[in-house]
Amino acid sequence: MRKASFKRIFPLISILLALSSLIIIFSACTGSGNENESSGNGKNESFNYSFDADISQYLRYLNPKDSQYKLLVNKKNPLGKNYTPSSLVDIDTSLTFLGKNIELEKYTAMAALAMLAEMKADGIRGVYITSGYRTYEKQSSLWYTYIEKESNAHPDWSSSRIEQEVLTYSARPGTSEHQSGLCIDFITGEMTELVNYGSETPNNPYDIGFAETAAFEWLSRNAYKFGFILRYPESKEGITEYNYESWHYRFVGQAAAAEMHETGECFEEYLNRIS
Ligand SMILES: [Zn+2]
Repeated sequence: MRKASFKRIFPLISILLALSSLIIIFSACTGSGNENESSGNGKNESFNYSFDADISQYLRYLNPKDSQYKLLVNKKNPLGKNYTPSSLVDIDTSLTFLGKNIELEKYTAMAALAMLAEMKADGIRGVYITSGYRTYEKQSSLWYTYIEKESNAHPDWSSSRIEQEVLTYSARPGTSEHQSGLCIDFITGEMTELVNYGSETPNNPYDIGFAETAAFEWLSRNAYKFGFILRYPESKEGITEYNYESWHYRFVGQAAAAEMHETGECFEEYLNRIS
């Protein structure tokens, strides 16, 4: 009788065992490993950073999986004239410098709001967004303004030398990362000499000074927790082909930002390694 029951139950046990193995395999593929699926280093990061501000409403925006957040825009990878971000939102003007109207791609905007809230909670005040999404036309107008400025300053230079000079600090229309809506320029009230603020020109007291502020120090330690990277680091000019910009932050999502924070890679190096 006992033996007979076991024979009847055994197939059932086998099925149950097989099912539970499947469930274990399935959860390993879809569990918290997802957070890190793009990194390929096998680490299981949960991104349970502790924050002082209540940013619960923004958490779901900090680590998007969509590949658009790894969009590379540089001199060799232009966006072209017709590119516009899929979803743009207006930034509350209380957070923008001089109440400017600034738009950002939606997840970038939400991550920026979370980051600004945390900065404030940590006692870093007076930090504003001074530049976000920039249209092709706006970049075009900036570009020609700089060309004119350099031409006036160096009347003996050839037009190609003038272009080379402008290219060290500004993007040719269609190649600015600002056209992606995925990056932000910050400014802070700590800076007293707001000369040509946020203009991304070289030797500009505001631009150089940002690296000396408490806001910059905070961003260096914390931006990655919100999915942002310093896009043009000081030691990577040869790779990014841009001068150091301590004020320009690019949204890539927490997983990618955490990796770059750990390895010290710039965006180009990171993309090159994971591709
Ligand atoms: Zn910028």
